[in-house]
Amino acid sequence: MQNPISGSGPATVQAQIVRLELNHPWTLSRNTSAFKENVLVSIGKNGITGFGEAAPNVRYDENAKSTLWAIEAVSDLYSDFDFHQHESIDQKLKSAIPDNSCARAALDIALMDWLGKAYGRPIHRILNIPCSEIPPTSFSIGIDQPDVIRRKVETASEYKILKVKLGTDNDQEIINTIREISDKPIRVDANEGWKDKYEALDKITWLQSQGIELIEQPMPAELMEETTWLREQINIPLIADEAVKTVNDIPALASSYDGVNIKLMKAGGIQEALRMIHLAKKSGLKIMLGCMIETSVAIAAALQLSPLADYVDLDGHLLIRNDPFYGITISDGCFSQSNQPGLGVLKK
Ligand code: MG
Repeated sequence: MQNPISGSGPATVQAQIVRLELNHPWTLSRNTSAFKENVLVSIGKNGITGFGEAAPNVRYDENAKSTLWAIEAVSDLYSDFDFHQHESIDQKLKSAIPDNSCARAALDIALMDWLGKAYGRPIHRILNIPCSEIPPTSFSIGIDQPDVIRRKVETASEYKILKVKLGTDNDQEIINTIREISDKPIRVDANEGWKDKYEALDKITWLQSQGIELIEQPMPAELMEETTWLREQINIPLIADEAVKTVNDIPALASSYDGVNIKLMKAGGIQEALRMIHLAKKSGLKIMLGCMIETSVAIAAALQLSPLADYVDLDGHLLIRNDPFYGITISDGCFSQSNQPGLGVLKK
């Protein structure tokens, strides 16, 4: 590949916490939040700015402040680094900030955005991702009271698939409420909320009669043997989410799960997520490409890989009111791949 702009020279890394206001308070089996604090990153060099984003997650002991510090702690790495050697900085970040994968993701996304802009190409073309169709995204329905759930489902009318958060005492009521007004395919995410294999089997046996397409993370991530047992009792795919963070987690999962939910924030960026996709496919696992609550920056980054996914769950930017970026095209619940350089999103 030609080198149109030198990858060397002085660079600046800037990071700031941004408060994202949610359309509805967001409840999962483990917590509720009315807003989300993410960290936006920009890397500037040779007149080009690449944008990135970290979406810290309490499940992985991350928060906005510790993520900001992690990014600031490694910003010197970029001062005399050749950006075209993007694989080597990925390795350096892994050693420098091993425990903050979303900080690494923000820096990797910003670097890839910078590279795409320098080459005048979208990131998916730099990574040779095929330009095939992107599966329709699911739209997430958080845990709520029946009247709110009904409203959320009605608002999601353009999306073809619903992803419903369960793992509560009223799982059946939630599904019944949705089924009264919608026969769309439902993907269930229990977020580790079913405490043992008997509770999980009970819930899934009923869910199988309700047109459920798959179940994500039924039990706590560490219950691998129980999950293997559960998988043998049911006829519905099990997808690992909290049980998989990086490429190292994948080999052990193939006997317990049918697929993996790969997220840039867990993986530590686009490059690691791509390695995970390749290994998971080789291991016979289906690929879900997921997200946290994120702005259009991180969603656009995941979209670059989306033609490789079996299931797309990239709705984080649709759940917030004050997205500072724009540029993602979605129509009838289906994304179009951007042909703009880098991520293809612009600051408002
Ligand atoms: Mg999940």
